[in-house]
Amino acid sequence: MLATILHGPGDVRYGHVEEPEILKPTDAIIKLSATCICGSDLWPYRGLQPMAGPARMGHEYCGVVVAVGSEVRTVKPGQFVVGSFCLSDNTCPHCQFGFQSSCVQREFMSGAQAPYARVPLADGTLVPTAVMPSDDLIPSLLAVSDVLGTGWYAADAARVQPGATVVVVGDGAVGLMGVLAAKQMGAGRIIAMSRHKQRQELALEYGATDIVTERGDAGVAQVRALTNGIGADSVLECVGTQESMQQAIRSARPGAMIGYVGVPHGVELDGQSLFFSQTGMLGGPAPVRRFLPHLMDLVLSRTINPGKVFDLDLPLADVAEGYRAMDERRAIKTLLRV
Ligand SMILES: [Zn+2]
Repeated sequence: MLATILHGPGDVRYGHVEEPEILKPTDAIIKLSATCICGSDLWPYRGLQPMAGPARMGHEYCGVVVAVGSEVRTVKPGQFVVGSFCLSDNTCPHCQFGFQSSCVQREFMSGAQAPYARVPLADGTLVPTAVMPSDDLIPSLLAVSDVLGTGWYAADAARVQPGATVVVVGDGAVGLMGVLAAKQMGAGRIIAMSRHKQRQELALEYGATDIVTERGDAGVAQVRALTNGIGADSVLECVGTQESMQQAIRSARPGAMIGYVGVPHGVELDGQSLFFSQTGMLGGPAPVRRFLPHLMDLVLSRTINPGKVFDLDLPLADVAEGYRAMDERRAIKTLLRV
């Protein structure tokens, strides 16, 4: 079959690969309904993450099960399923505590920017729908797999409460999903930090009440001005740079929680300033599996429309253009039709 392969920085190709097969009795093979490009795929694409050689890309997925291994019990061929980018057994102690992204058997999904993909640990990872969803819901169900699940986790980790004042640092797809999540959790005020007109508009549509375009000291001052000099109750950090992490910590009031889901690249925190900030921090790879059933229900009942975050829709064959558009920030997130 033809699928996505990253050969090196800036060199993504649509080329021949082996069709996936059941390798373990706990595997499933799915036929992708759609797939997409993640902001985190841009780290190796930009040469900012070392690569061992050509790599199969893609970890966000939803689709129809076509085959299962002999030990798979909870999904069967013909069912529509959504899974997380973290593969988990959903039975170990970490999974039981709701931290499936630290499962003792954890693996990371790969090879999903393709017509077919192998999903290890199928029973623990995949959640089936009762009926085949209509086509127009596919982008939103795909968003649940990573960006919505991650934005939701950021809001959950930041303990967004009804009526709370929330700051969202980052206007990428995850940040926008964080705005949506905070709104669903009943936040009273949602301050989105964004400099891009189109992203600001989507943030406002998803529930942001204020937009802050400044960064650094000016951004912190603006957040203080909007919160009577106090700072936010909950802060969602959705970027992963030194600047964004500092922005998050300095936007939080004493006693606030910060949910940080941007994979840190070059972030160093000073112990004493962290100590005196008196904030709590919880982050890491999102345990999307914990939220999947609830988020899928919200999509299937048309309560939320996270699929609007896809502002570029291309056939899988044009995957290279999809990466370029995101790299050049011409697109927030690219959906790939298979
Ligand atoms: Zn586990």
